[in-house]
Amino acid sequence: MEDVPQPEIGINDVLIQVDRTGICGTDVHIYKWDAWAQSTVPVPMVVGHEFVGEIVEVGSNVADFQVGDLVSGEGHVVCGRCRNCMAGRRHYCADTKGIGVNRPGAFAEYIALPMTNVWRHDPSIDRDIASIFDPLGNAVHTALNFSILGEDVLITGAGPIGCMASAVAEHAGARNVVITDVNPWRLKLAEKMGATRTVDVRTESLQQTVKELGMREGFDVGMEMSGNGSAFREMISQMCHGGKIAMLGIPSEDIAIDWNTVVFNMLSIKGIYGREMYDTWYKMTVLLESGLDISPIITHRFSCDDFQQGFDVMMSGESGKVILNWKT
Ligand code: NAD
Ligand code: ZN
Repeated sequence: MEDVPQPEIGINDVLIQVDRTGICGTDVHIYKWDAWAQSTVPVPMVVGHEFVGEIVEVGSNVADFQVGDLVSGEGHVVCGRCRNCMAGRRHYCADTKGIGVNRPGAFAEYIALPMTNVWRHDPSIDRDIASIFDPLGNAVHTALNFSILGEDVLITGAGPIGCMASAVAEHAGARNVVITDVNPWRLKLAEKMGATRTVDVRTESLQQTVKELGMREGFDVGMEMSGNGSAFREMISQMCHGGKIAMLGIPSEDIAIDWNTVVFNMLSIKGIYGREMYDTWYKMTVLLESGLDISPIITHRFSCDDFQQGFDVMMSGESGKVILNWKT
């Protein structure tokens, strides 16, 4: 923790006083300063990208936001000029900059952002929930990518995002939501979040679960949220013919899969990155308004001064979302 200058804003920017932040797995990679972090993050850098706060200053060109607005930031700052940006498909931008990765982030008292990257919350929203719209957005973007009403869904990886995706899939009308992990603590959390069945793949058989649930032809929709090769291979083997896989998990190494199954079972595999701007944000809002409850995912809250404890609990594997409070 150190003193840095307060960020300055341009005419199209807003200055936000940070209230609460979530710790993301990405922040843990940076904290550990692993090979990815070393090759990606220029230093010095204010890290962190999951946050909620209040606008305290707006640039002279900004008409749609006012001082006092409760806002979060979309973590991907897009270029606005590439073919996809020009076509309004901003989440496909070819030149994205990450808040708290390539440009100054939210683990600070203030963050400056272009107005095009700001989402205004209804003032009634729970601030802890508002602070994790970024990862909730990953879960919603993935879970709603393919139609899941009445479908059987498999989620591999019961990390915070997998757990939130199970709540979203359940809320959106999936028939069975089966979630796998190798961490019993996290599978318990997934159960609280609404998963129909949890499977610890070290000791239980996914195939047996499929049988017990009376699913004859396999899963209709898969959501890969572990980044783990054997989880992805097992998912491919348990999909129905014509099954659809949304892949959010970031593999830490090359994964070999059985391509014959992909071809002969006519599977679709789609990569998911970030959130759709701003359709995912809209959907998160209406899902919460229509009763989606993700509150059990927040398992720890600390003052920002105790950030060390927050990172320690993240690294223990026995946590959901960890919130840091910056207004101490
Ligand atoms: P996380 O690391 O907290 O969760 C991953 C979970 O997968 C862990 O609970 C782990 O125990 C579990 N796992 C490990 N091996 C497994 C196996 N063989 N079978 C089933 N589960 C297994 O991560 P998270 O924060 O919940 O994020 C989920 C994934 O999404 C990560 O890979 C992360 O890097 C990635 N991610 C992608 C984007 C994107 O935009 N594409 C954004 C955020 C996170
Ligand atoms: Zn672009």
